[in-house]
Amino acid sequence: MNPVTDPFRRQLLGSAIAICLIPMAGIRSSTAFAADLPLVTADDATAKAVGYVDDASLAAKAKPGSRCGSCMLYQGAAGSSQGGCPLFSGKQVRATAWCTSWTAKS
Ligand code: SF4
Repeated sequence: MNPVTDPFRRQLLGSAIAICLIPMAGIRSSTAFAADLPLVTADDATAKAVGYVDDASLAAKAKPGSRCGSCMLYQGAAGSSQGGCPLFSGKQVRATAWCTSWTAKS
């Protein structure tokens, strides 16, 4: 394989690599951003409306095994302790939490 010795081709190759890395940087920053979001608290108006509790075992209406981590709306990674939920924009829910909108992952 010939090394890229032409300055123009070298610059073009460098630019192409930089352009390819931009989406990866975006994924990293959005992941870091999501991790920085605050947790939903019991005094949150939406939390009250949907009966959100931090611990699913304390929810009388929760079916066995139902919790945010097993909900199809949960946006956290598999095995994560907390993650996003579309019901709580700009906040995170605990994987162990539960609410009345729980829907089993299919
Ligand atoms: S909709 Fe699902 S992920 Fe969101 S708070 Fe309720 S149980 Fe948790």
